[in-house]
Amino acid sequence: MSPELTAESSVPIADPQRAAAADAVVAALTLPKSARNADVFNPATGDFVAAVPDIDVDGALRAVAEADAAGREWAARTPRERADVLRRWYDLLVEHADQLALLITREMGKPLAESRAEVTYGSDFVRWYAEEAVRPGGNVRDLPTGGGTLLTRRAPVGLSVLITPWNFPLAMATRKIAPALAAGCPAVIKPATLTPLATFFAVDLARRAGVPDELVQVVTTTDASAFSEAVLTDARVRKVSFTGSTGVGKVLLRLAADNVLRSSMELGGDAPLIVFDDADLERAVNGAFAAKMRNGGQSCIAANRIFVQEGIAEAFVEGLAEKLAAARVGDGLANDVDLGPLIDDRAVANMQKLVDDAVGNGATVRAGGKAIEGRGHFFEATLLDHVPVTAEIANTEIFGPIAAVQRFTTQAEAIARANDTVYGLAGYVFTENLDRALNVADALHTGLVGINQGVPSSAAAPFGGMKHSGMGREGSAEGLEEYQETRFYNVARRATE
Ligand code: NAD
Repeated sequence: MSPELTAESSVPIADPQRAAAADAVVAALTLPKSARNADVFNPATGDFVAAVPDIDVDGALRAVAEADAAGREWAARTPRERADVLRRWYDLLVEHADQLALLITREMGKPLAESRAEVTYGSDFVRWYAEEAVRPGGNVRDLPTGGGTLLTRRAPVGLSVLITPWNFPLAMATRKIAPALAAGCPAVIKPATLTPLATFFAVDLARRAGVPDELVQVVTTTDASAFSEAVLTDARVRKVSFTGSTGVGKVLLRLAADNVLRSSMELGGDAPLIVFDDADLERAVNGAFAAKMRNGGQSCIAANRIFVQEGIAEAFVEGLAEKLAAARVGDGLANDVDLGPLIDDRAVANMQKLVDDAVGNGATVRAGGKAIEGRGHFFEATLLDHVPVTAEIANTEIFGPIAAVQRFTTQAEAIARANDTVYGLAGYVFTENLDRALNVADALHTGLVGINQGVPSSAAAPFGGMKHSGMGREGSAEGLEEYQETRFYNVARRATE
């Protein structure tokens, strides 16, 4: 982050009324006081937004102890009592949707409309798990050999450490906290220091809704390694749920191994988006735009490699390039902005490097292609066509507003190239042929597939990846099981007179 940015902005700046409203939300936050602080900046301007505690290892272990102590009473509550608290939390999130959206845009940069969508999506996990809390699972089965009955029961897994990234400051937090609470677990959440404010706000609302004060601890720190080394190896901790990069996920899995922690890992992605000749062109262009550009391309399920069949390729590229060229880039609090800033100046430099390398390798720029000078961290919505497989951009998680198009001839070729990656989070298929859609979806090695649509996520869906994109699922009934142990009682039976 570069707070020293000084040159005048060359993109639309924040609407003054919205900026004042965002300032008021930040000023009203109840942030814990601490001797050492970490500063949060606005990625659209580089301006200081707020200071959050920079908590050391002792402080993190105190948070573990407090959450652990509060967990016993919470686990003993009835499912209905836990559900009622979650439902009140959902109602408060909805009531504060405007403030939350302003806060998300302020700390993360995305356009306000997208922040509102994140509030809807993020709150939905709380509503969903309010509903799931009263269905903890378990069943009854007879032993195949007779003479007994098996009761399977679900118990809370215990103290859960939740680590979230900066790109969805609210939704990544609620997607973990809500199922943990529904299952009866206490939690320590460590949001990214770049964007911790929505988590503080949401947890504050949870407390107002009746979540005991100590049950969910928010720990912000600039020393993430020291945090995880101390906390994940603590005997009171039983679970880690991480969303972030694959590299960090592997480090956390190694730590988790020493403490045999239940582990959920939502890691990086390299989503293929495949457009067949028989696709509906408009649907494919709109779907690709959404799948690629939502969150400024800074999403784990962003369409990272766009494969287009030769027969439709020119029309598709033309349509998408037109949409990208028309996309307005600016401060997320400006009016009518489609794309916000990138998270920091390193991300902007990386986009430029990827474009230059691709062009050097033979790709053609059909839209955008350059960083935007001035304050903030902005990059044009970009389309690269004829991206060669040798270009770096074809082999890395882009995490920015560049659509990288490759062309293909046959279905088999598209599937082989789509699967030629260590990642396996999302895939997308555009075709009007139902057989093809399902056959290709089956053949993709990914945890989720958008068929003729670019925004597949839902609180009702079991979201998660295969291969190096991770393990475990978030959302849906499966997301609750991540915070539960399954136990059985074998009840012997004999005949009675
Ligand atoms: P990151 O891995 O750098 O950081 C994620 C979180 O981990 C942050 O809170 C960070 O402070 C923390 N962290 C970093 N090193 C740590 C350590 N040694 N111990 C403990 N915590 C540590 O990722 P990011 O840059 O914040 O987010 C982008 C990445 O997240 C991308 O790869 C993206 O694909 C992935 N992501 C995945 C999903 C998903 O659901 N699969 C969702 C969003 C983002």
